[in-house]
Amino acid sequence: MRLSRYFLPVLKETPKEAEIISHQLMLRAGMVRQQAAGSYSWLPLGLKVLNKIVRIIEEEQNRSGAIQLLMPTLQSADLWRESGRYDAYGKEMLRIKDRHERDMLYGPTNEEMITDIFRGFVRSYKDLPLNLYHVQWKFRDEVRPRFGTMRSREFLMKDAYSFDLDEASAVKAYYRMFVAYLRTFHRMGLTAIPMRADTGPIGGNLSHEFIILAETGESAVFCHADLLDKPIPAIDTDFCGDLEPIFQDWTSLYAATEEMVDMPAFEADVPEHKRLSARGIEVGHIFYFGTKYSEPMKATVTGPDGKDVTVHMGSYGIGPSRLVPAVIEASHDEAGIVWPVSVAPFEAVVINLKVGDSASDSACEELYARLESEGIDVAYDDRDQGAGGKFATADLIGIPYQLIVGPRGLKEGMAEIKHRKSGERETLPIGDAVNRLK
Ligand code: ATP
Ligand code: MG
Ligand code: MG
Ligand code: MG
Repeated sequence: MRLSRYFLPVLKETPKEAEIISHQLMLRAGMVRQQAAGSYSWLPLGLKVLNKIVRIIEEEQNRSGAIQLLMPTLQSADLWRESGRYDAYGKEMLRIKDRHERDMLYGPTNEEMITDIFRGFVRSYKDLPLNLYHVQWKFRDEVRPRFGTMRSREFLMKDAYSFDLDEASAVKAYYRMFVAYLRTFHRMGLTAIPMRADTGPIGGNLSHEFIILAETGESAVFCHADLLDKPIPAIDTDFCGDLEPIFQDWTSLYAATEEMVDMPAFEADVPEHKRLSARGIEVGHIFYFGTKYSEPMKATVTGPDGKDVTVHMGSYGIGPSRLVPAVIEASHDEAGIVWPVSVAPFEAVVINLKVGDSASDSACEELYARLESEGIDVAYDDRDQGAGGKFATADLIGIPYQLIVGPRGLKEGMAEIKHRKSGERETLPIGDAVNRLK
């Protein structure tokens, strides 16, 4: 992408309305624009990051055996009347009437709709286990939308729903998601701790929130410090195998949110020097809730003995549009965002120090073309402006590798690489630059 032709509306000033660093940086880096309270447009740079986050989530969902589909944002109120949640959900639900005066709503979650799909097609226990997910916009009329896309009213969610014949197999489905979530957040450079959580309006009895520690987090959390550096299940984890040991290993260390914490138990379980009481951001939440929806909505399958069995369900949410600011909260410095390579909008940027200088222009063009042909997601700062501004932009938008090319270095055939995270700079022959990034 040539920045001279890109749409990157960076701001010089820090917008006053932004209270936390991630919100400030997302506005300054031209990633999002507020359209109404809690409603944001994703500008090109922000959308690139959001898409990379979604891609990682999809890869890990697929790896764990979940299957992607797509449900609509607008739902019929009738489905929610069946589960009894139409009245129970309260003011967070945006209710809409269509031209025929039919009650509709903008989905805040999809348990009812997925249960309807399930009961429409699945007949036999032989079709289980089944886990279906989608990545779709949700609307919740939050009392206090704030912190940019961290708590917005319209937000993106990956929500998965598992269906099993009985509790024992539903718990296995829960373990698969638990492990998939550990891997997912780790790939984004985050340390997300699974914590015992309240099941809230969705109901049920087994639930964990995945929490990232951050001072600006909205929940108070209490956990064992060793959870911060536990090794993450590897890419070759067998999702058809027994995942209970991994689950037990993680959950044997105390971790709970403020709604669930039992202070005497926390103090008894965790030696004082290992007690961590901090603030955190909820980035994911998993539930097992048995037959809460399948029973009223009559989602049954024929069991091995020919009798109807009401299926056991779980639901598993992740907020990609919250993860974008969460990654920034976890990784930034005075100069701006420091993206992990896995979710960076561009992995590298070629900075032309002297646009219009023929040696500089042709060296940059060649480098840019070679990086692109290697499949590296690269930007080329070919804008006719001073070097200082280009460095500041590259730092602000957090590109992991900056390849700096100018007439002086080129006389010796050299370019410079700056590593955004460490700030380290090295001079190298320009011909070696591509290999350094491969
Ligand atoms: P919170 O406690 O922050 O209000 P929640 O518990 O209501 O979140 P869930 O119903 O568990 O949210 O939804 C699953 C995931 O969706 C959350 O873990 C979070 O990552 C994301 N999410 C929920 N509400 C919002 C929101 N208003 N803006 C952005 N992401 C959200
Ligand atoms: Mg909420
Ligand atoms: Mg919550
Ligand atoms: Mg939750």
